[in-house]
Amino acid sequence: MEHRLPAPSLIDAQLLVLDQALQLLQQAGAPLPSEEPLSAAWLQAVLDALCDLSSRDALTGLANRRSFEMALAREVDRVARSDEAALLLMLDIDHFKAINDTHGHAAGDKVICAVARAIQQAVRPMDLVARVGGEEFAIILPNCAPYVGLAVAERVRERVAQLGVEVVPGQVLGVTASLGGAFAPQWVRSSPLLWMERADRQLYRAKAEGRNRTRLEPQVDSLVSAEERGMLFASLNLDTQQDLP
Ligand code: GH3
Ligand code: MG
Ligand code: MG
Repeated sequence: MEHRLPAPSLIDAQLLVLDQALQLLQQAGAPLPSEEPLSAAWLQAVLDALCDLSSRDALTGLANRRSFEMALAREVDRVARSDEAALLLMLDIDHFKAINDTHGHAAGDKVICAVARAIQQAVRPMDLVARVGGEEFAIILPNCAPYVGLAVAERVRERVAQLGVEVVPGQVLGVTASLGGAFAPQWVRSSPLLWMERADRQLYRAKAEGRNRTRLEPQVDSLVSAEERGMLFASLNLDTQQDLP
């Protein structure tokens, strides 16, 4: 026997879901759609706002880990098909636990937000800056030539080191961060996970070698021509997620 909800209940349920969506946006401080309520444009605006909310980190407003991972997978795919180099940087605030322990969690949050802004200001609008952990950030720099990679990473590090964060009125804290980076392999289709691990390895190196420094994986020049690469991918039709050694 077929069970069907009567139409009014269905509409009630839909309105309830919409009401919850609006509450969610309101709590997050997102602007509510200005279109005619319940119009197609209004519904689309609500959906867009929800998508935006689910892709952002609540504390800093940067991309969150989920949208970073999606962007990284897209970048792996793009690099494999184009001639462009791309750099992934991982940044971790130095001795952050001491900031929390000495000045409190709220002060730590202020430092995280200030570092987030400093990173964003030091890179191009096309670069994706994400908060991927408590005091860890990732930056995807598409179309970043190997010879500028270190300069960009150093610019980010210096911006952070120049910060003075007023954690309570009259009390200004200095902060430093360490960065590790790796370029995407341009002629083999890698995986997002491998790329992250390579950048992370360099971050650990930067920490081990004294912090407040940048370490990039040495670049191995590709000897495969664009034509050969095109033939390789045309015949293999590899999946983006497939790991190559
Ligand atoms: P290192 O230089 O080796 O990176 O040392 P560290 O002290 O920065 O590293 P550690 O990983 O030991 O400390 C990270 C701390 O970040 C621990 C955790 O309590 C804190 N933390 C994680 N998320 C948040 C957050 O959202 N806000 C604040 N205030 N602290 C956080
Ligand atoms: Mg950390
Ligand atoms: Mg740290």
